[in-house]
Amino acid sequence: MSASADLRQQLDARCHQQIERLVAWAEINSGTLNLHGLERMASEIGKLYQGLADSIELLEPARVREVDDTGVDNPVTAGKTLYLRKRPEAPRRVLLMGHMDTVFEADNSFQQCEWLDEERLRGPGTADMKGGLLCMYEALRLFEQTNQNSDIGWDVLINPDEETGSRSSAGHIAMAARQCEIGLVYEPALTDGTLAGARKGTGNFCLLVHGKSAHAGREFDAGRNAIYQLADAMTRLHGLNQKNPNITLNLGRIRGGDALNRVPDLALVKFNVRTLAREDEQWVELQLHELVEQIKKEEGFSAELSGGFTRPPKPIDERQQALMDLVSETGNSLGMDIRYKATGGCCDGNNLKAAGLVNVDTMGVLGANIHSDREFMLRSSLPERALLSHQVLCRWASSEAFVRGSNP
Ligand SMILES: [Zn+2]
Repeated sequence: MSASADLRQQLDARCHQQIERLVAWAEINSGTLNLHGLERMASEIGKLYQGLADSIELLEPARVREVDDTGVDNPVTAGKTLYLRKRPEAPRRVLLMGHMDTVFEADNSFQQCEWLDEERLRGPGTADMKGGLLCMYEALRLFEQTNQNSDIGWDVLINPDEETGSRSSAGHIAMAARQCEIGLVYEPALTDGTLAGARKGTGNFCLLVHGKSAHAGREFDAGRNAIYQLADAMTRLHGLNQKNPNITLNLGRIRGGDALNRVPDLALVKFNVRTLAREDEQWVELQLHELVEQIKKEEGFSAELSGGFTRPPKPIDERQQALMDLVSETGNSLGMDIRYKATGGCCDGNNLKAAGLVNVDTMGVLGANIHSDREFMLRSSLPERALLSHQVLCRWASSEAFVRGSNP
């Protein structure tokens, strides 16, 4: 039997146990805002790595703020990031990254797993990405059995806020990225095994317009209608989609007004922007700045913009392509046909690339319908993708060092 067939057999023999663990993990609610559930997940993952990792640490979240629906700027609560290290003194390092949060909050009705058939396990976070976290663990466990090179070390970073943009863990991601040569992120692949190639960048913004309240009957003319002013601004914001084909701007949420006999003095819109290239960010920021200045010039109105770009685009450059090739060639050697497809979605792979770390970010299990209550993962993909990761680690460890990029 070939060495890889032997390893696959070992992984298959452990699959039942790992799937049982996956069901237990998926049934621990760890919505991004559920700090208690996140703590439980961090503790479960930490327990699993006892004896495998040399150090297990919990990193404090950075303080971030967000404007609520009434225009008030509030602090955001966030969980801690788990940081595990093996041979911290080793000069050549790989970063394996995942997130422990899901989009399903504690009050969501989707909390249990069920088998749709022998292969498809439906459940919250089974694909995105608790299955991926187990894939990562299985790969590292095998790697520790086979790797005899003390120059090679690994770091695992698992954050609690990926689903809301990793704002409180962004500093930890950049820190961990700087220690390593390549990155592997365990977001799910598509059900046919396709991985994500280039990714767009993203940012969330809030535009707040202040007018002046007045009685709608007695002194209508003394009022300054913030909803009207915001509606006009939103038309211009949406118009940016036509002005620049590299961007998409989605007006996602509006709030404003109160009693119908009152001229509203406050209205706000929250919107998401996606970009293809770094230059697009500056272009969008300039347009937004000009829009705010225009509103401020209107007598009786003022405007404030908050938010910003949190994940730069992840284009494919030469070094990025080299790592993608390493992964697909490794897949080929195992009889897997690994393809890549560009996506408008974003993940922590964007953050790692922005910090100069090349990475393939869909190394997790195969699955579909993520972020919905129809989310499922494919059972056999857990040992399959764990083997792929293990072999990628081995190939990388025996290759020439990947040249690190400079920070943009
Ligand atoms: Zn995810």
